[in-house]
Amino acid sequence: MTYFHPWTLREQHWSDEHVPTLQNLRQGCETWEAALTQWLNGNIICEESKLYVGNFISIHRLRPGEQDEDGMANPDDMVEDEEVYVSIDMLEEVLETRIGGKTRQSDDLDIMGDGHHMNSSEAVGLGRDIWSKTGAASASTTQPTYSFDEEKVQLSLQSAKSSRSKENKFAARTGAQTRTEREAALSQRKQATKEDVQEWLDALRSRTRSDGRLFVNTKQFEAVAKVSQKVMEELPNRKGCAPAASEPLRWVVHGGPGTGKTHVVRDVIKKELFDQILQWQQGLDYQVIALQAVMADLLQGDTIHHACGIPVRKKGVDGDVVIQSHKAVAEQSLYWRWLLIDEFGMVGASLLAEVDMKLRDVVVDINPRKKSRSGHAQPFGGLNVLLSGDLWQLAPPSGGYLANIPAEFIANARKYNPNVTISHGQSLLWGGPENKEWAFHGITELEESERCREDPWLQEVQLELREGRLSEDSHGFLHGQVTRVCGSWTNGRATCGNGVCQQLSEDKATWTKIEAAERNCNICTDSRKKRQRVANDADDSRFREAKFVDAPAIFPNNDIKYDVNKQRARQYAATHRLGVTWVQAKDRPLPKTLQERPDLVLQKTAWLSRHDRECGDLYGMFPLIEGLPVALTDHLDRSPDKQLLRGKIGKIHSWKVAATDGSVWEDDVRILHELPEVVYVKFEHCSWHIEGTPEPGIYPVTKVRRHWYLDKGRQYPQLAIQREQLPLVPWALFFKG
Ligand SMILES: [Zn+2]
Repeated sequence: MTYFHPWTLREQHWSDEHVPTLQNLRQGCETWEAALTQWLNGNIICEESKLYVGNFISIHRLRPGEQDEDGMANPDDMVEDEEVYVSIDMLEEVLETRIGGKTRQSDDLDIMGDGHHMNSSEAVGLGRDIWSKTGAASASTTQPTYSFDEEKVQLSLQSAKSSRSKENKFAARTGAQTRTEREAALSQRKQATKEDVQEWLDALRSRTRSDGRLFVNTKQFEAVAKVSQKVMEELPNRKGCAPAASEPLRWVVHGGPGTGKTHVVRDVIKKELFDQILQWQQGLDYQVIALQAVMADLLQGDTIHHACGIPVRKKGVDGDVVIQSHKAVAEQSLYWRWLLIDEFGMVGASLLAEVDMKLRDVVVDINPRKKSRSGHAQPFGGLNVLLSGDLWQLAPPSGGYLANIPAEFIANARKYNPNVTISHGQSLLWGGPENKEWAFHGITELEESERCREDPWLQEVQLELREGRLSEDSHGFLHGQVTRVCGSWTNGRATCGNGVCQQLSEDKATWTKIEAAERNCNICTDSRKKRQRVANDADDSRFREAKFVDAPAIFPNNDIKYDVNKQRARQYAATHRLGVTWVQAKDRPLPKTLQERPDLVLQKTAWLSRHDRECGDLYGMFPLIEGLPVALTDHLDRSPDKQLLRGKIGKIHSWKVAATDGSVWEDDVRILHELPEVVYVKFEHCSWHIEGTPEPGIYPVTKVRRHWYLDKGRQYPQLAIQREQLPLVPWALFFKG
């Protein structure tokens, strides 16, 4: 009441029935509750007070008369939250993964219903068979003990913190902090000429690799030439003649897996043409962007959302979303001439539209390229744009597929009106040559697959899969089942050269006859064996081949991934004879959630079994094992030399348990009561060195805090839980089917 009800401390001249002295605020009522009810029942005489009280009530859903006065004054303390500590007896239970599907409501996986639940359970079972905990007996494991110099720990945390603040690439890359210094740095660069580019391009056409193959094949060269041509139009020649103004180029490099898109974009256009010949700097003169941080990292680029200052929208998860300010984006894109977007098939149509609109907006008005000759605003602020990717893949989960031809647009081509919609994005791509004022101008299709050249059969199978026409024989080969052709049959020919094999395959003979013929043909027998790429069961010896032990695994959904990750982590510990230190996530329902559902505290243990994607991407139980490969679930440090982005892989180096942690080792397991103070993760091939750590590439990782929702399926989720955990996952690839 003291928040909202007007009162005064001046007893004599100021107090009246509406503004009493503080001592009389209860105004003769028995309880505060009664006083409040009385006030709310028509005695708020000021409109402004009414507004504040109304807002407060609707946000906090206070129902006067049901709650005690303390609750009114401080709703945060109304219901007691309780800590839950997982004991060793509970460990197996909390490590079980809650499998989605049938039993859940309002989940998009429900379309698959029973099927999803059954498939996942089966896959989880198979995963456990393959990666079952084998190896050392518990007594022979090592329990890690690390000793830390407290000063060095603090130093490392401090220097990591100051590293994170050096995010501004503009300043860091040119090594300059002020505008004057930056301009000085820029003036020192050499200006490349038309002739420089032409000479390089001429040499590229006939350049060969060490094995005699052309460095770029005909189609690849076409794509490079297209970009080079545009670059040359904008360069002065050696006599110093300035270029005439020209319209920007928007081009697409399209091709299936293995056709060398990355080779063209990264190795040739980015590294040779832009970086070496033109002496451009990424982020300053041009930018390479991709949807996912891991892809951007491969090209030393940036994510679309970060580079263009577009917020990431994700239902049900509140992260610490850091977006660049309008000014920061404008400043960074000030000198961009080119924008390369990698794997554009994964970029939703509406996101491409957003990038377009954002760049139209930030490119400064005095930039002569911002408007076309006829005075129209150029798409992407007049930048040259090169998309590379493959549209013959799965559509992005949201935002509209660029590959779909926009029906709406075709019908209304002449009424085209740009705004941030799916059809805008699609129209950019599909507008066609007659709309070159705003649409993409054309495409270079890379056709020749450079991958698996030594195995034409596998190449053919990949093509079949890509085009959705896997033949029965290919399916048979992959699974080690019957086929109607001999084991070495490739593109209509028995490569063993055996006449019998050739004839039987041409006749599509019975399996008995083919089997009989293969007994006399070693080549066909061997080849058939090699073609079986699908494991029959968990005992397949290939699972234990060295190349698969540390290999990433790919799963069709989160339940399986989450479960297998935990299994593999435990197997990793067993193989290396190490104990496992489990870090239990700390879940706390927000006060509002507890107000609504005070019983929730009792479910805390069950939340630990939910897969990480439901809980703000944080694991319920995270295994700390020395050397365990882990991936970052968050952009940890964006400073230019480190670029520790989401998906980056490192290995657990060591960790410091909180001084007050009361947990102990029980056999080969320790379940921490508190989140560790710091976990050091080692990243390979890094030259940066965080002060206070023993060697280059070690970064201190500390807990993060995220919100997730128990009722995230609802349109407006209410039941928020705060989780604290390390922003790490055991490493495995995840594939959403
Ligand atoms: Zn044969």
